[in-house]
Amino acid sequence: MGGKIRIGISACLLGEKVRYDGGHKHNRFLTDTLGIIFDFVPICPEVECGLPVPREAMHLEGDPAAPRLVVTSSGAELTAQLLEYCGVKIEKLRREELCGFILKARSPSCGISGVAVSNRKSAPRSGSGLFAAAVIRELPLLPVENEERLADPALRANFMERAIAIHNWQQFAKNSPSHGDLVAFHTRYKLQVMAHSIVIYREMGRLVATAMGHDREQLLMGYGKLLMRALAQQATPRKHVNVLQHVMGYFKKNLSGGEKQAIAATIESYRQGNIPLAAPLALLRQYAETYDQAWLKGQTYLNPNPLLELN
Ligand code: SF4
Repeated sequence: MGGKIRIGISACLLGEKVRYDGGHKHNRFLTDTLGIIFDFVPICPEVECGLPVPREAMHLEGDPAAPRLVVTSSGAELTAQLLEYCGVKIEKLRREELCGFILKARSPSCGISGVAVSNRKSAPRSGSGLFAAAVIRELPLLPVENEERLADPALRANFMERAIAIHNWQQFAKNSPSHGDLVAFHTRYKLQVMAHSIVIYREMGRLVATAMGHDREQLLMGYGKLLMRALAQQATPRKHVNVLQHVMGYFKKNLSGGEKQAIAATIESYRQGNIPLAAPLALLRQYAETYDQAWLKGQTYLNPNPLLELN
């Protein structure tokens, strides 16, 4: 993995004093732990669209599908000002080689979901902050999370897995790879993609197999989109079990009856939710080493970043 992974982040989570009350919401887990591999790109939509610090508190109002941003004390509307900023900012961010976003939960600008949207005619409903909604709509292939959801080990692992893969793809694609390089890249990612989407896995295989003679830029763009689309699909325990059993098939004939039972029991224990995915992965990685399975040893699936396994 070359260089750090660039992640857009709500500036207040980094400790920047940009909140309406002049404070911050520094999240030390993000900066001290995920900061080991992430290079955070701070964004504060409210300050960057021209609002001062401190400023009046704001909230969302109206239709949750297209809410208005309103100053709570005066009722002044700031929707147009923030949306205009979002349009310009997102175009800039497209060129920033970002691999994901971590946005502040429940903010009327940054909240990705579950932000209260008040309505005079009914009880508050739930929506997304204006900037978060624009990011999700305009950059749909990038992972977007809030700091609260990232406290969940499974959600965090999924976010990081996608961000790492997108980063690796970006670094690979910008070095003018040959068709052979693309085949090698695709080969290393096969099991990881299978764990997310078998349908897109097959589509990627067809694209690579028929790649000779294609325009290289188009090919790389098409492949990158498929990779991100695949990883955007949740890798469920059921999908992981299918891939783990597939891996076991590579050295089944080498295994004793007891070893087969031990692997099957570990996979089953993972399926039942008793142990993390890291356990069967470590066991299978060990057997791939023991039986010198070069193809398996090169799989990104069996060699996840150690930070993915934090609990
Ligand atoms: S939640 Fe977003 S808009 Fe609000 S202070 Fe933090 S970065 Fe700025």
